[in-house]
Amino acid sequence: MQKRIVVYRRLPEALLAELKRDFHVDDFGHLENFEDPAFRAALKEAHGLVGASQKITPEILDAAPHLEAIASVSVGVDNYPVDELTRRGILLCNTPDVLTETTADTGFLLIMATARRAVELADFVRRGEWQASLGASHFGSDVHGKTLGMVGMGRIGAAIARRGALGFGMRILYSNASPKPALEEELGARRRGLDELLGEADFVCVTVPLSPETERLIGQRELGLMRDSAIFVNIARGGVVDEAALIEALDAGRIRAAGLDVFEREPLPADSPLPHMANVVALPHIGSATHETRHAMARRAVDNIRLALSGERPLSPVNEDARPL
Ligand code: NAP
Repeated sequence: MQKRIVVYRRLPEALLAELKRDFHVDDFGHLENFEDPAFRAALKEAHGLVGASQKITPEILDAAPHLEAIASVSVGVDNYPVDELTRRGILLCNTPDVLTETTADTGFLLIMATARRAVELADFVRRGEWQASLGASHFGSDVHGKTLGMVGMGRIGAAIARRGALGFGMRILYSNASPKPALEEELGARRRGLDELLGEADFVCVTVPLSPETERLIGQRELGLMRDSAIFVNIARGGVVDEAALIEALDAGRIRAAGLDVFEREPLPADSPLPHMANVVALPHIGSATHETRHAMARRAVDNIRLALSGERPLSPVNEDARPL
């Protein structure tokens, strides 16, 4: 009997076709929500799930009694109840590495765009307001030579720090669960406690995963520790930051600017003030969104689910304890 895979994220046709050679595939790439009756019916028979960006709850798992593996088209696994999956013997896989450099590019884009006020000043030109050479009220601040504080120094954190240190001569500070001696050696990075880092950095860039430990890691108190000239960048997950406190700090000029790719609620609600603030660059969660990288992520997810359902070791398992690999 062919195993059945439910796909709830758009995948390239060629990759879907590849999966269909070995599995029965129910493609819900354009699914609006998990209540869709056809999706629910497919879930009941599914051995594998491939998707991203939607919360997988225990209720969804109850509705999928034959589920053996999930391949997320993402590196972040905050949408999955990992412990619950492990208890149920369901293997979760993600897509690390293939998106690291692209997401780091986006992180650096936010550093540059906020420091040099690129979006605000491009809008100024678009509105036809560029009538004379600009004065100090339109100047930005330098990136090169400044201090970059990385909150999280994993794959993406290190790739951003590398850009800063090697490309822009920045001094690198980091706070991270474990020390990173190789990066200290390579980049001259120095580990600090979070509070200390916040007080010293010209740019604070968040790259920790969202978890119960990091939820609202950056709140009113932490923002209050930042310099009023400092710029805050979040390329990780919106939930790591208390968004109301961030808006207040930006509004009151307690920090200079923010570059944000991720938000507490996505898509950003229409009544959010963030896109209308001159000192905010808000992007629609495009960290990994290039043709090349999204294809590589889909490729990885397809390989992961194929291997997991064939009883082989997937390329990037998250909860290895779920079943013998
Ligand atoms: P990673 O390699 O696992 O790096 C995460 C780092 O955070 C690790 O170094 C880890 O420390 C550290 N960390 C975890 N919990 C911590 C805590 N409570 N306190 C301090 N440090 C902690 O992951 P990655 O590949 O760099 O991805 C990071 C996150 O970026 C993802 O989880 C995802 O949410 C986000 N992301 C966003 C986008 C986007 O489109 N904006 C794209 C890709 C990823 P250890 O090294 O000691 O374990």
